[in-house]
Parts: sequence; structure tokens; C-alpha cells
Amino acid sequence: AVAVVLFTSDLRLHDHPPLRAALRAADEVVPLFVQDPGVHAAGFDAPNRQAFLADCLTDLDAALRARGGRLVVRAGPVVREVCAVVSECRAVEVHMAAHVTAYAHRRERRLREALDERGVALHVHDTVTTAVAPGVVTPSGSGSDHYAVFTPYFRRWSQVPLRKPLPTPRAVRVPDAVDGLAPPAAADVEGTSPDLAEGGETAGREHCSRWWSGGELGRYEEQHDDLAGDATSRLSPYLHFGAVSPVELVTRARDHGGPGADAFVRQLCWRDFHHQVLAARPDAATADYRGRDDRWRSEDEAAEDIAAWRDGRTGYPVVDAGMRQLRHEGWMHNRARLLVASFLTKTLYVDWRVGARHFLDLLVDGDVANNQLNWQWVAGTGTDTRPHRVLNPVVQGKRFDPQGSYVRRWVPELRDVADRWVHEPWKLPDDERSRIDYPEPLIDLADGLARFKRARGRD
Ligand code: FAD
Repeated sequence: AVAVVLFTSDLRLHDHPPLRAALRAADEVVPLFVQDPGVHAAGFDAPNRQAFLADCLTDLDAALRARGGRLVVRAGPVVREVCAVVSECRAVEVHMAAHVTAYAHRRERRLREALDERGVALHVHDTVTTAVAPGVVTPSGSGSDHYAVFTPYFRRWSQVPLRKPLPTPRAVRVPDAVDGLAPPAAADVEGTSPDLAEGGETAGREHCSRWWSGGELGRYEEQHDDLAGDATSRLSPYLHFGAVSPVELVTRARDHGGPGADAFVRQLCWRDFHHQVLAARPDAATADYRGRDDRWRSEDEAAEDIAAWRDGRTGYPVVDAGMRQLRHEGWMHNRARLLVASFLTKTLYVDWRVGARHFLDLLVDGDVANNQLNWQWVAGTGTDTRPHRVLNPVVQGKRFDPQGSYVRRWVPELRDVADRWVHEPWKLPDDERSRIDYPEPLIDLADGLARFKRARGRD
């Protein structure tokens, strides 16, 4: 018998329950990836992610070839392509990973209907893209199907026994009858960030081992907010594309133990938390989770502020540093993401969707669940239990980049400014200030705060 494994954003061979199930059920397996124009139409395929995805597919194909198989790449509407492959190789079942977006729900439903008509079973596996599947823990007694507050979710999530990580299969036999395209090449993608991470399971696992053996995990608790230290794992794009496995990461970190590993596991839980929110509320990708009625400034009115924010020329050094890192690497430190998002939504009073869209245009880890729900968290429209808090970029800069090294790395105009002024260059003595080509602050922070408090009715 033949089984098809539809890969989506679970691009690895290790710890892959759908592949394992298919190999058990059939003598031959078609590892399939479909380039669906629907993803393009939905705006999900920004150049940085396209390039990273191309690396992942090339690597997956090479890993399958080393095991006697290959990756079958097709282009076209996903349901049509899966059905075509199923009939070409007379497959009896299809396996895939569960996903939480509205797009994924639709894809699964339509695929199930089409395969049902052909008498082919669709098996959807959870704990491939998250460590704990959405809906496994729910708040008892409240009748709600998901947690809206992180801490109680984390407590319950921590008690869920994880399945054992699965080994990489030794051999995969692919039927000759199906043909496909060559995997796309990252080099063909235009408009990528200059310093983009390399994608793929091999790169992800190497990256993970380096981070692990470098001792950063042990120091993670103290260092994860240190902007200049850059000591977080940078595993987010590998997690987004499934090149590394969340179950395996949580298991390894727990085995390692200690405060650093605990703090790291807690961050991985944030990922599952946002996924379970989106699974229950797919509309939260675009609609305010709390149904707030914020009258954000219109995009027309705020056009110049939005452009300055995007380009990293707001005159607030740590904000500008973050925005320039995003453009250069397609990635930004979490502390900087928090700061720049708070600045856009609360200080400039611009709709979180404007910021979320820009992030999705550039982030290599850009992810509907993590991006949209973190934006909502910061904007105070989502799951933050203190929705009115505002991060002050000067205070935050001094605290998380005390020597200004992060600022100097990304804002070279301020390279020679002394530590005491690096987060407030407008305070420099006039003669020095006039020699530096760096913008004045876009807005007075006190004015921004007053507008926000008025808007939220909290003055
Ligand atoms: P580490 O600190 O090493 O953490 C390990 C992993 O835990 C991360 O790779 C990530 O998968 C997960 N994680 C950590 N923090 C969070 C969090 N707050 N929410 C969800 N998962 C988390 N993360 C994305 O993966 N994709 C996004 O599109 C995204 N957009 C964001 C937008 C905003 C406004 C904010 C404030 C945060 C966003 N994050 C997003 C979360 C977080 O900033 C990144 O996951 C993290 O910076 C990635 O770096 P790392 O892998 O070194 O993280």
C-alpha cells in the first residue's frame, strides 16, 4: 500500500508523527509538499520566509534522498494536487500535521471532503507543531474552550505528559509513479534581508546543538532580556517551519533542568499558549480579541509616523535599532519587539494591525499565531492582564541595553555617543548634537502617553 504525507510547516524528518504513522501503515510513502498559490494570495509568503522555506525544502529533499526517497514538490491548489498524487500512486491514506490558522482549518476541511469522496482516509496528527495540542488543557468550570490568561495555562500545560520524541526514519521508499518539481532555491528569491538565517532541518539542528553546548541555556534566565547580549536561542524560524520539534525541545530542556532551562520552557509555552488561543479564535488574526473599540489614528493621518517607525528613524534609539535589525536580519530580539510594538500602538496610537502587517512582511519567523497575538498582547486588545501598561523606550533602553551596545550596532550614527546620552541623544550638548545626523524624537513621550490615557479613558 501507498500513503501520502503532506508536509506543510513541519519540515523535518525527526520527531514527525505523520511520517512515522505513514511508514507503519504502508510500504511506500509519498512525502509531498504543495506550493499553493492560496498562500501567496493571502500574503503569507514574504521574501524572507520564501527563502527560508526554500532552504527547508532543499534540505528535506536531500535528507529523504539519503534514505532512498525524495521530496515530491507540486505547485497548484493544495486539495487538487493532493488528490492528483493520491490517484497517481493509488494511495489509501493521507497524513498531515494539525494547524491552527483559519486557512489551515479550511484546507483540512476541504481536503477531508475531497478524500472522503475517493474513499481515502485523512489522518491529522497533533503535537507536531506544538508541544501540547490546543484544547488539551482548558479552564475547568468556566465553560471556555481555551485559556485567555498565560500563567494558569502554563501551570496546567506543565503537567501534561509529553509523548516521546520519535527518531528519524532510516529508509523511505517513494513510488516511481509520481513526479514533481525540483525544490525552489533560496537564491532565486528576490528582496530578502541581507543577513538572513539559513533554513532547514540540518541547519536548525546544528544551530540548536551549538546554542545548547555554548552554555546559553544555563544563562537564559538572566540573559534573555539583554538586547546586546543576543543570548536567546534564535530558534523561532526553525520552530515556525517545523525544522525543529517543540516536543523534543521541551523534553531536552526539562532533562537539562535548572533555572535557565525552566525559563526557556516557559517561553516555549508562550508559543503553545498563542496557538491554543488562535485555534479557538481564528478571527483573532485580524479582529480584536477582546472586542475593544479602539479608535486608532487613521493610517492616512499617521502616515508619516508609520513610515518613520518602519524605517527606524523615530529619534528613539532603541526603537530605531530594533526596526533596523528587523530589516537587516528578518528577525528582532523579543525585548525590542515588545518595545517597538508598544511605541507604535500606545505612543503613536496606531492600529496594531499596521505593525503586525509590517512584521509579517519581514519576519523570517513571521507566524499568524505568535505575531498577531503578541501584537494584540502589546496593544492591550489581547490577553495581557495589564492592557494599559506602556513601555517607555528610554527607560527600557537604559535597562536592557545599559551600555548602548545594541543601539550602536544598529544605529551607527550614534556609534561615538557616550553611554549616558546614547538613549537620549537630544540631551547632547548642542555642538555635539549638531554633528550627528540623527532625527529629533518624533513625538514627546508625555504627549503620547496623555493621548493614550485619554483614548482609553484613564486620565
Ligand atoms: P527564545 O527566547 O530563544 O525562545 C524560544 C522560543 O520560544 C522561540 O523561538 C519562540 O518559538 C518561543 N517564544 C518565545 N517568546 C515567545 C512569545 N512571546 N510568544 C510566542 N512564542 C514565544 N515569535 C514568532 O515566532 N513569530 C512571530 O511572528 C512573532 N511576532 C512577535 C511580535 C511581537 C510584537 C512580539 C512582542 C513578539 C513576537 N514573537 C514572535 C515572539 C518572540 O519575540 C519571538 O518568538 C522570539 O523573539 C524569537 O527569538 P528566539 O527564538 O531567540 O527566542
